[in-house]
Amino acid sequence: MHRTLITGGAGFLGSHLCDYLLNKGHHVICMDNLITGSLENIKHIKSDRFTFIEHNVTKFIDIDGPIDYILHFASPASPIDYLEFPIPTLKVGSLGTHNALGLAKKKKSVFLIASTSEVYGDPLVHPQSEDYWGNVNPIGPRGVYDEAKRFAEAITMAYHRYHNIDTKIVRIFNTYGPRMRLNDGRAIPNFLKQALTGKELTAYGDGSQTRSFCYVSDLIEGIYRLLMSNINDPINIGNPIEMTIQQMVEKILQATGSHSKISYRPLPEDDPKVRQPNIEKAVKYLGWEPQIKLDEGLKTTIEYFKNQLGIESS
Ligand code: UDP
Repeated sequence: MHRTLITGGAGFLGSHLCDYLLNKGHHVICMDNLITGSLENIKHIKSDRFTFIEHNVTKFIDIDGPIDYILHFASPASPIDYLEFPIPTLKVGSLGTHNALGLAKKKKSVFLIASTSEVYGDPLVHPQSEDYWGNVNPIGPRGVYDEAKRFAEAITMAYHRYHNIDTKIVRIFNTYGPRMRLNDGRAIPNFLKQALTGKELTAYGDGSQTRSFCYVSDLIEGIYRLLMSNINDPINIGNPIEMTIQQMVEKILQATGSHSKISYRPLPEDDPKVRQPNIEKAVKYLGWEPQIKLDEGLKTTIEYFKNQLGIESS
């Protein structure tokens, strides 16, 4: 049986990975310090192949026995979280990744790091393919996340080249779905909560900036395929269907049947103007592409948010 460590396993993506790998028969060790993750996300798991360890991976990670796979997903991932936890964000991407790689070296594990489209910063190349080096402001408010993840990629490649660890880097583009926190602060959870509670939808800037949103189950499938592949170079995983934030606001008003107004707020500093993954590599090497349409993904996500808010489904 495969024994797999998921750091950040009680978070949005981490908890979906726990479910997925338990289904594939793995023994899953879920590690989280619960600063942005929550035990709520894993409380449904009853398997005797599941262990939870509360630990901050910025500190030395000590685990007995073999570990076949390490998926390093611990990190705040929402822009409001980087503002609240700038130093933990830097530490988990740097010191935490170093510790997780050290464990992979000791246990001879396959190692996969959750990287991000933020390594491309406010991109000057569009859509973004893996060979683009990015346009990042190292000292801006988002720099704590972007640079930590860029460092994480660099140290991961160094462990691959110098220590021959079988490493994988997934560059994750905007993803949504159940288990995003009500107060996550990212676009879809904000808009859903606002639409469902009759509040104004807060579009930042004039809403003309673009993003491309991937449903969580598609993302998890792509990550699993990368984990099982022989690819060591970074791979973009995301949905290439690009839309403006204004279009997303309108979509959410329609999907929730809400009559909320739209309120335009100042654009956060260094907010990328465009973002769209080039997924040719994922298609070619992993045979992966997203399956879930926006309407379908939003439906499930709306059900989850209604439940969280205690709203009866119609
Ligand atoms: N955004 C918005 N209103 C919100 C939250 C986010 O208009 O209440 C915008 C944000 O400025 C950005 C886009 O939506 O342009 C996506 O933001 P998110 O925080 O989801 O993630 P990002 O892609 O910026 O990391």
